[in-house]
Amino acid sequence: MTTSAIDSASQTGVPAGGHYVHRLVRVCPDCGVEHMKRKQKNVNPRCFKCQRRINQKNSEIRNADKRRASQAKYREENRTAINARSREFKRTWMNEWRKANPTTALIRGRAFAQKHRDRLLQRQRTEREGLSDTYVKEQLARYSILRPSEIPQPLVALKREHLKLKRLCKKSRTSAN
Ligand SMILES: [Zn+2]
Repeated sequence: MTTSAIDSASQTGVPAGGHYVHRLVRVCPDCGVEHMKRKQKNVNPRCFKCQRRINQKNSEIRNADKRRASQAKYREENRTAINARSREFKRTWMNEWRKANPTTALIRGRAFAQKHRDRLLQRQRTEREGLSDTYVKEQLARYSILRPSEIPQPLVALKREHLKLKRLCKKSRTSAN
C-alpha cells in the first residue's frame, strides 16, 4: 500500500482493503487536527477534545452562581482560619523581604514611623495606661531571653497585677508628700 492509497481512502471512505467505512477524516475547525468522524450529514466537525472544552466552559457558565454561592459559604464558615493563614503568609513574606532588603526596610520603617508618629505615640500611651497584653509582654521581655510573643498568658496576668500595685504605691507615695 502506498501513501496515495491511504490518502484516497481517507477522502472516499473506502480503504485500500476494499470494504465501505462509516467514518471520514474531518479537520477540526478549532485546532486544525485531523480526526475520524461518523460519515453522516450535519455531523459536528469539532474534535472530541475541543468539543469537551466547550462543554466544560458552558457548564461552568451555567453553574457560576451556584459555585460563587458555595465559595462564599465556605469563606464565611472558615473565616477565622482563612484570615489566620493569610496573616501568617503575609508575616512570613514580610520577614523574608526584610531580611533580603535590610537597607530599604530601615528607610521605609523610619519613614512610616515619622509619618504616623502621633498615631503610634497615642497607641503606645493607650497601651501603657490600659496595661494591654502587648505592653505587659514588652515589660516582661525587656530583661528576658523570651520574645514578647513567647511569654505565657498567666505570667502576663500576674505581671499586670504587679504593675497595678506598683502604680498604686507610687500614687499613694506622691499624694502623701
Ligand atoms: Zn480540535
